[in-house]
Amino acid sequence: DLSHGTILYLEDITVSFDGFRALNALTLYVDTGELRCIIGPNGAGKTTMMDVITGKTRPDTGSAWFGQNVDLLRLSEPEIAEAGIGRKFQKPTVFGEHSVFENLELAMAGDKSVWSTLVARLSSEQRDRIAETLALVGLSTEQDRDAGSLSHGQKQWLEIGMLLMQDPQLLLVDEPVAGMTPQEVERTAELLVSLAGKRSVVVVEHDMEFVRSIARKVTVLHEGRVLAEGSIDECQNNREVVEVYLGA
Ligand code: ADP
Repeated sequence: DLSHGTILYLEDITVSFDGFRALNALTLYVDTGELRCIIGPNGAGKTTMMDVITGKTRPDTGSAWFGQNVDLLRLSEPEIAEAGIGRKFQKPTVFGEHSVFENLELAMAGDKSVWSTLVARLSSEQRDRIAETLALVGLSTEQDRDAGSLSHGQKQWLEIGMLLMQDPQLLLVDEPVAGMTPQEVERTAELLVSLAGKRSVVVVEHDMEFVRSIARKVTVLHEGRVLAEGSIDECQNNREVVEVYLGA
């Protein structure tokens, strides 16, 4: 039962690249329904951590569990996605020549080759799900537009909507507000906050103002391990964190 407790367990995860430890005995737990922000200087291991969770990179040692029963280190990348972990990369990848609505249909089909069959017989439940998702990501009025004509922010929201069509229990989001206008940043904060609770969300982000606006709990990574964890104030006032960020 994934509805309570801990959704993600990373324990003693070590990843070496040619002897260099990108992750060094990293231990991190994420609660079900939590919205967690991961911060840390360049090279801290944030991307490598996301790659371990999604099966893209295999650790040398350690364990990684999704809920109580799913051993992530025994699953392939597609199996991990199937198990309920969705990942949003920084660069939006929408089908620009298709409408916003069609992009969500495609995401629901999961595979472009079965798309035409699916669309021909979209059930009313499936239509409702797409409509609900459009409303959630704030794109209801844009549903007939070509995705390629959307603003940068709207493309990012559409891609989050596309991930939601797979109904992930854990959503990993990489630098969601890079390149956004202040209004888009604000809307993205609301969206991510609204997504948590029903599912768990882990956000890697550099923008501290943004982190402050969304996160209850922040994890600071440095040299492949957790340097500090707590509220944004606790992290920003932590002496070691200050030293790392000031390069002292
Ligand atoms: P972050 O996302 O926090 O900036 P990364 O996880 O991308 O950090 O990288 C952590 C460290 O591991 C960096 O020093 C990076 O150069 C190194 N690294 C990451 N991926 C590879 C790789 N495929 N081969 C060699 N070194 C890598």
